Amino acid sequence: MPDKSTRSESAKAAATETPQAPSAARKIYPIVKYGDPILEKPGAPIKKFDAELEQLVEDMFASMYAAQGVGLAAPQIGLSLRIAVVDVTAGKNPEARIVLANPEIIHAEGEVREEEGCLSIPGFRGYVLRPQFVTIKAQNAKGEAFEIRGENLLARAFCHEIDHLNGILFLEHLGMLKRDLIKRKIKKLRKQGEW
Ligand SMILES: [Zn+2]
Repeated sequence: MPDKSTRSESAKAAATETPQAPSAARKIYPIVKYGDPILEKPGAPIKKFDAELEQLVEDMFASMYAAQGVGLAAPQIGLSLRIAVVDVTAGKNPEARIVLANPEIIHAEGEVREEEGCLSIPGFRGYVLRPQFVTIKAQNAKGEAFEIRGENLLARAFCHEIDHLNGILFLEHLGMLKRDLIKRKIKKLRKQGEW
């Protein structure tokens, strides 16, 4: 990720950010881009729920907000693990922060075709058919099991992040022509050293 921080942006961030715990010097991870094989392999289940994991989760939220995303999965920061964070309010509502460790879709209903993007595939978007409602079960950063139902954007975010944990990118849901076009453009960007 290019460093886009400017003085005015950080001033704005300071004014709108909710105060964090004093110890919260968060690590901002660079986002892994399409082409890195880690994005296309399934992550390992989370087995240890300890302080280190809680720290990782906080760093993932910070990295996601820094990249202006609404979801971030561990493979996107180079860790092949089944954990993701989601916040469809992009940091505006602390209660909207959702940690998904070892998530699974247990129910899906309806269909919505909407445009979707991915922090790992910057600059490209495509229409993806997703369920309108999904119910998932997962564990939080402490290992506590929970179920949550999401609708529309939240349902889409859940599906997109769970896909990441399975090594699947939104490109795989696009029609072949659109997918190949994006892949070709990325290949060209990579050749030019711009990816
Ligand atoms: Zn993504």
